[in-house]
Amino acid sequence: MLKNSLTFLGTGGGRVVVFRQIRHSGGMWLNLEGINILIDPGPGSLIRIFERGFDTKDIDVIVVSHRHLDHCADLNSVVESASESTKNPKDLLVAPIDVVEGDDPILLKYLKRAIKEYIPVEENKEIAYKNIKILSKMKHIHEGAQTYGLEFQSEDKKIVYVPCGRFYEGMLKGYSEGADIMIFNTTFPRKVEGYYHLSVDDVELMIKKYRPKLAVITHFSIPMLKADPEKIAAKMSRKTGVKVLSAFDGMRLQF
Ligand SMILES: [Zn+2]
Ligand SMILES: [Zn+2]
Repeated sequence: MLKNSLTFLGTGGGRVVVFRQIRHSGGMWLNLEGINILIDPGPGSLIRIFERGFDTKDIDVIVVSHRHLDHCADLNSVVESASESTKNPKDLLVAPIDVVEGDDPILLKYLKRAIKEYIPVEENKEIAYKNIKILSKMKHIHEGAQTYGLEFQSEDKKIVYVPCGRFYEGMLKGYSEGADIMIFNTTFPRKVEGYYHLSVDDVELMIKKYRPKLAVITHFSIPMLKADPEKIAAKMSRKTGVKVLSAFDGMRLQF
């Protein structure tokens, strides 16, 4: 297991790309100081975990940014697998309340006992786990789902995840500056009115403001794939002066 690494199990976003598997989905596997965090187990996460040489048993923390299925369709399969059918409960699940409670939760009720502790994500919350912290600082505006920006911090590392949401001015304050990696769910090449997703223009503004050491764009829709994410990332690097990478399925970064 690579200490301090981030692996993209999938990089697809939106209905067509994810639900026709034009790119893989399944979220990200983050190892921070030896702690394994599975972020956004979308469709196929269970398969991609094993395909990439990971094992669900090694998961310490599962984090879900929001209840849309491209981000959590495999939550139950992964929890079932990771807990060996509830026999070995996992330490921690971090997710907005509408993923776990209410009349239409994503997590099946019997699998609640497969998790030792569930902590709801709320605005400005700091969750301590062993020698790391998970922070939810930013509320996003995203259709029909509570959604929060997430930060994963150790003593000297900072990984910031900017999930889906419609851009608003408030997003230019609140996230941490100078992260080791800042991941942006960049669904569209340009602004599309009425959609609850970030565009390249929005992400450029945020990169200029927060100046991470490395920015990564992912969660690609059809228009984004047609526009070629690699070319877009190269252009964004030139425009912002910050290194920007376009994620590909299976991409692993060390930090
Ligand atoms: Zn999404
Ligand atoms: Zn969504």
